[in-house]
Amino acid sequence: MPTSALLNPPTHILSVLSEVFGYESFRGPQQAIIEHVTSGHDALVLMPTGGGKSLCYQIPAIARQSAGHGITIVVSPLIALMHDQVGALHEAGVSAAFLNSTLSPEETQTIEQRLRRGEVTLLYAAPERINTPRFLGQLDALYAQGSLSLFAIDEAHCVSQWGHDFRPEYRSLTVLHERFPGVPRVALTATADALTRADIIERLQLEDARLFISSFDRPNIRYTIVEKKDASAQLLRFIEREHEGEAGVVYCQSRKRVEEVAEMLAQTGIDALPYHAGLDSSIRQKHQDRFLRDEGVVMVATIAFGMGIDKPDVRFVAHLDMPKNIEGYYQETGRAGRDGLRANAWMAYGLQDVVNQRRMIDESPAEENFKQVMRGKLDALLALAEATDCRRVRLLSYFDEASEPCGNCDNCLNPPAVWDGTDAARKLLSTVFRAEQHSGFSFGSGHIMDIVRGKATEKVSQYGHAKLSTFGIGANFSEVQLRGVLRQLIAMGALNVQGQVFNTLQLTEGSRAVLRGEVSVLLRESVSQKAEKRSRKAQAPGPAAANLSQEALVRYINLKAWRAEVAKEHNLPAYVIFHDATLALIASAEPQNLDDLNGISGIGAKKLEAYGQEVLQVCRVQLK
Ligand code: ADP
Ligand code: ZN
Repeated sequence: MPTSALLNPPTHILSVLSEVFGYESFRGPQQAIIEHVTSGHDALVLMPTGGGKSLCYQIPAIARQSAGHGITIVVSPLIALMHDQVGALHEAGVSAAFLNSTLSPEETQTIEQRLRRGEVTLLYAAPERINTPRFLGQLDALYAQGSLSLFAIDEAHCVSQWGHDFRPEYRSLTVLHERFPGVPRVALTATADALTRADIIERLQLEDARLFISSFDRPNIRYTIVEKKDASAQLLRFIEREHEGEAGVVYCQSRKRVEEVAEMLAQTGIDALPYHAGLDSSIRQKHQDRFLRDEGVVMVATIAFGMGIDKPDVRFVAHLDMPKNIEGYYQETGRAGRDGLRANAWMAYGLQDVVNQRRMIDESPAEENFKQVMRGKLDALLALAEATDCRRVRLLSYFDEASEPCGNCDNCLNPPAVWDGTDAARKLLSTVFRAEQHSGFSFGSGHIMDIVRGKATEKVSQYGHAKLSTFGIGANFSEVQLRGVLRQLIAMGALNVQGQVFNTLQLTEGSRAVLRGEVSVLLRESVSQKAEKRSRKAQAPGPAAANLSQEALVRYINLKAWRAEVAKEHNLPAYVIFHDATLALIASAEPQNLDDLNGISGIGAKKLEAYGQEVLQVCRVQLK
């Protein structure tokens, strides 16, 4: 290949990028992927959330259709979001449609007619629809005419049972390959460790596809994991200090907890809404719409919420309970800061999280080898939570990516003091052993800590545990310290937790190495309030406006108000019209005419034509 071809992508691809989407240059591997797919080859694309996956099939779809290859079918599991996705393409002047269960028979027919006439560039459909005889029949007809251009399989990890979002309908997507040989396929996902990745390739028969793995780093996201004390109060403090009036997502494990936390936040005046699978679907839809369309809504949700939500200005994702594994954590936190502006991923984590997650695995009806895989994945997340070094280095290395300390995580910004908990660990373990030996059954963490600290509680005297040789041998440790050690021991697998009600502690194979002093247990000092206070306070109108002059700020605020009206009129989220970042660029450019607007990132030809004059008008008003 001549070097000039490397430097200059095929002009039609670049012109689609700038004219249709209004962007100047490709990001990361986008160009290579788009060239590969446009020229008719299969690809598996792994890119973090917010990396820009959509363009990787949208631009090939447009380029291939203009070259006479016909329509692109996008398989997406997200029926609730198809409307906005298609709306965003319409705003950019691209002919797109969706087929799903929300359409009336008449609407469906109209779209089918447009398909036959070749008037659609991208068609979104849910996986369960793909396999219906009617839809396959329509694809057959298109295929026979040579008008089936490309299949894009979004959220491809849904095909894998190792992923966190298994959807059995994805398994039957092999039909695309078998029935329509020669039609290129591009599968895309934001989550795939090595195991999930291999599963996607096998299940979707993508052995010959080229693999594109982007860096998974999201440098604008700051990762923070704090020790859980009073989770609700900690969350409230975090939001008030850093995210007043900004949009965010708070993940909780149970529906009940979602309700409680949403209520608690709402009472303090935060615009918070609950979302979980137990709510009526109309309420869920309403809350999701509010989150997408209004500014500054905090969604308190179970993991039922979030996939495919491409709202770019989510400023924080908070976890009040620990997810199951790093893939889940990374996927969920990745929903923050898609616009590239600063964002926070914040998690509160405690002993109970470790206990709950371990128990859920132990008690699940799955086969033992499946449980083993799950335990391994949980351990990796626990190690991240307990880490005293850079969180990002750990996260990225989980996805096989080497990196240097980032300077933008809690551990880099406020390196935690570390203390050697090995001695405390041995004292705790031998107490677990002696108490069980003495009484014939095992005890929970509270009682074990009381013995180690030499506290004469009622229970201690009831069981005669003051006589144990370990009674009071760790009187110099605080309860917080011991709890940290216990958490670490459970996380390491050196202690086992059992029982529904009492959560008693038992020794494991792994205890021995610690008892013998072969393994050391390093712990972070409990995060001090001071360190929390040091974290940066949010700037009022959001990070996009951070560097605007006073005059530009006024323009920016006016533009936002104008955008809200347009979005309402079009029944679309505001960011589909223009991103905050685009509005900020307009505001600081002080545009006088359409030429000044042309070339601003995020303004394509269609948007320039549709909104250019209005935008100029809005900018002029306040110049007086
Ligand atoms: P993903 O699906 O990978 O999570 P999206 O496709 O939603 O990410 O893209 C994230 C955001 O980045 C979108 O708002 C998109 O418009 C923007 N974006 C994508 N590619 C580019 C680019 N080359 N230049 C500027 N912005 C881009
Ligand atoms: Zn770091």
